[in-house]
Amino acid sequence: MPLIMMSGFPASGKTTRANQIRDFFNSKIAELSPTDPRVARLKLHVVSDGGLGVSKEVYREARPEKDARATFYGAVKRLLSADDIVIADGMNYIKGYRYQLHCESKALLTPSCVIYVGTPAEKCKEWNAAKGSEKREGGEETGGEGKGDSWEAYAPDVLDNLIFRYEEPNGMTRWDSPLFVVPWMDEDIPGEEIWNAMVNNEAVKPHLAT
Ligand code: ADP
Ligand code: MG
Repeated sequence: MPLIMMSGFPASGKTTRANQIRDFFNSKIAELSPTDPRVARLKLHVVSDGGLGVSKEVYREARPEKDARATFYGAVKRLLSADDIVIADGMNYIKGYRYQLHCESKALLTPSCVIYVGTPAEKCKEWNAAKGSEKREGGEETGGEGKGDSWEAYAPDVLDNLIFRYEEPNGMTRWDSPLFVVPWMDEDIPGEEIWNAMVNNEAVKPHLAT
């Protein structure tokens, strides 16, 4: 089933948005399952950098970063199947990486999409700094719903470097489409649109038929 790739600057709110999509999809599944056996079979998974224990320090050097990317890729690939929806929350800043993941879902005849969490660099820095100070003040390591995402700020130079290297999605390309842009000031995600594109997609239905 569908692959939903979260993409955006570091500390742009990818995990926050991934949780909103997860909650929206879970309520859709709960609502529709009693009457729709296709939906009843769906399972939702979130694969996140934090959940996999990927440190925010791996981006300092090529080797650990490459290893982390391979770990993340493997975790997504293992979960992708006809009845599993995977939200890939993290590591999607490189165009070639999104392309590869898109090919994995295509090989399984399932759709993929990209959620571009559109937060300007200055906001990301602000939120990252707030996160850092919370930690220094001994704030609780909850992460709330985003459990599994380590509540750790990026070092300022790592943050700058990732912003510099970030390859913005382009909805005109196969691997970045459909592309949903979520502006930072929006309360909510376009849940219905994402659900329709991923689950009510005509191309998906025959594949899901009982
Ligand atoms: P990412 O997964 O992209 O690194 P997170 O979702 O962990 O980003 O968010 C980074 C920080 O910014 C967190 O402290 C989070 O609470 C905060 N944050 C995220 N989205 C918003 C928002 N729309 N408004 C205010 N703060 C936000
Ligand atoms: Mg995150």
